[in-house]
Amino acid sequence: MLKKNILILATGGTIASSTSEEGLVPSFGIMNLVQYVTGITENYHITAKDILCLDSSNIQPEEWIIIANSINEYYQDYDGIVITHGTDTMAYTASILSFMLQNIPIPVVITGSQLPMSNPFTDATENLRCAFAMAASNVPGIFLAFNRKIILGCRAVKIRTTGFDAFESVNYPYIATIDSNGLTIQHSIVPKSSLPFELNTLISTDVFLIKLTPGLNPQIFDKLLELNYKGIVIEAFGTGGLHFIRRDLISQMERLSEQGIPVVVSSQCLYERSDFSIYQTGKKILEKGVIQTFDMTTESAVTKLMWALGQTTDLTEIKKIFATNYAGEITL
Ligand code: ASP
Repeated sequence: MLKKNILILATGGTIASSTSEEGLVPSFGIMNLVQYVTGITENYHITAKDILCLDSSNIQPEEWIIIANSINEYYQDYDGIVITHGTDTMAYTASILSFMLQNIPIPVVITGSQLPMSNPFTDATENLRCAFAMAASNVPGIFLAFNRKIILGCRAVKIRTTGFDAFESVNYPYIATIDSNGLTIQHSIVPKSSLPFELNTLISTDVFLIKLTPGLNPQIFDKLLELNYKGIVIEAFGTGGLHFIRRDLISQMERLSEQGIPVVVSSQCLYERSDFSIYQTGKKILEKGVIQTFDMTTESAVTKLMWALGQTTDLTEIKKIFATNYAGEITL
């Protein structure tokens, strides 16, 4: 059987870390790590490139652009791409790449591990094997491979700090699982598009995410505008609610909308859909022109707003972007 050409792009994270006096630090040399993983080197033609060497807490919008540009530079020469990345912000990177690299024609699979490759109990080898299998699958898209599961990139959320089962696919079925039958892909749920691939890395970093707490002072939003924030995501309560007695968040939302600031409201609940049209407390803000995220993850909502603000500052256009499903991030 012809071996698939797989490119591995390393960005750092625990998977590539070694112990130092200051704690675990990522180090360069992804090929040194991969060459000892049985089931990988003998089955694929591998090219490895270290593009970054960071703990993913330090992976920020500038690094997202570096990663997206690297994928764009090399994708035509490979059957699939594996990206190794720290787990802490992996879901944000997977989400933003889903918007920056829409309709990528090959599989791009992000993975990492909870323990360094050098640890005898590491989960890195298994995660890499699964990521390579998905990268060789001919199923295009941005995916995250972890603990024998493949998640659509824009649906991944990190839910555990140390457990090997660290990621979940939120409000979307797993794209694939790996068990004794091998890699089983649910082809019917992989988002498909007839649109051409397009790299679009224009984003705004001026997006603020705020988790609503009972009694939150509405004036906080004036301060955010003073700091030049251009868009706000609010994790509101339950199905959809914000307080308006005594501390009137609703009027504040109206003021923000009048100033052309997009306000995107999601739920603090991880699972299921928010729907601000059910309760009076939610309905009132919809009338003020805020944007709902329905079943999107917070990671997707934040990165989609950053990407949307990179395309336009026109509120009507941003609403249209949120009313469009680009990569499977929202069920409309
Ligand atoms: N702090 C690490 C990182 O995100 C954690 C990990 O990779 O698991 O880079």
